[in-house]
Amino acid sequence: MRITALETLCLSRMHEPERQWITAQYRTVKADCTIIQARTDEGLVGIGEASAYGGSSRIAEWVDWLAPTLVGKDALDPATAPHPNGRDRAHDTAVAGIDCALWDLRGKAEGKRVSELLGESPAASVPMYASSGCRYDWRDRPEQLIEEALGYVEEGFPAMKFRIGTHWEWDGVTVDRFLGLARELHQAVAGRMALALDGNCRLTMEEAMPIAKELDRLGFAWLEEPIPWRDIDGYAALAAAVDMPVTGGESFTTLEQFRPYIEKRAYDIVQPDAGICGLTELTRIAEMAAHHGLKLYPHSWHNGLMAMVHAQAIAALPNLEILEVCQIQGPLQWGIAAEPPEMEGGRLYLPDRPGLGMELAENLTERFPYIEGHYAVTLDRWPRS
Ligand SMILES: [Mg+2]
Repeated sequence: MRITALETLCLSRMHEPERQWITAQYRTVKADCTIIQARTDEGLVGIGEASAYGGSSRIAEWVDWLAPTLVGKDALDPATAPHPNGRDRAHDTAVAGIDCALWDLRGKAEGKRVSELLGESPAASVPMYASSGCRYDWRDRPEQLIEEALGYVEEGFPAMKFRIGTHWEWDGVTVDRFLGLARELHQAVAGRMALALDGNCRLTMEEAMPIAKELDRLGFAWLEEPIPWRDIDGYAALAAAVDMPVTGGESFTTLEQFRPYIEKRAYDIVQPDAGICGLTELTRIAEMAAHHGLKLYPHSWHNGLMAMVHAQAIAALPNLEILEVCQIQGPLQWGIAAEPPEMEGGRLYLPDRPGLGMELAENLTERFPYIEGHYAVTLDRWPRS
């Protein structure tokens, strides 16, 4: 089966004002989705989602540039997929989307789910965690975080991950004030749902250490990217200081980039994203992590097709456990699917369909026309003393 064309579908949807979300100094005003379609001479089409963080139009340019070297090649030969290089984010996300589309094709050609291609006896469903907690504003009702969390408890999610809120300097937020909110949240949830915190690399080491120790005492499930990602020794010190896993690596595109973090035990759990590094590279990272006794919790933001590739990997690979599902992407997230998978009681059930298990809905470019520009606007607020 030969590849005949590679196409990029760029989709967007403006958030309604009340659905815009704010974190750090950014207000996110739209949702984006970038899907690569690999067409073949036998009529089968493979689809894969590239992380929109690579920039939809730049990803499309890279796909067009790579296409002439892939057209005519055997779609079912794993060697056909191009590799991420660890240097150019748009290139690597384009490659990741192509790689996922080729996995979808291989599954469809063999009549098997991708999870069946990856493992012996894959699970039929995977647990999901609610990924959000990035709507609360330190200036205006930060307790919105707790109300949001209680909604996820109601929905049956086994876990939730939240962020550290708006820019701390605007409102004089301190470690103590942050931990006050974290303790309130922990108390409100009262053991009904596990909690994890994503620092988005925003904390200093002086802030991160007391936060890590207190969240460890509260029994948090993990602490993600607390400090700038380059500080490998800082990560290793945090990981050594607490029992709670310290995690990271969502923006890395190659196994080589993970290597020093794995060797120095800077991460207890690695978090590659198949929409950024490709499923092939993710399986290599998973294997190396397993060799070092580490787990892999895939980073999975954005839309449903990306969730499906991660669900297939979690169902099949031994050291993958839980699926991140973004809660604030809006109707675009599953609106791309002809038929979204069943999600119930905090679990996603893998559809009984070959490949990644998702077909695209009709008329996507009419329903979600691409909107140029960055997904967020930078806010400029006067600090309050
Ligand atoms: Mg993260």
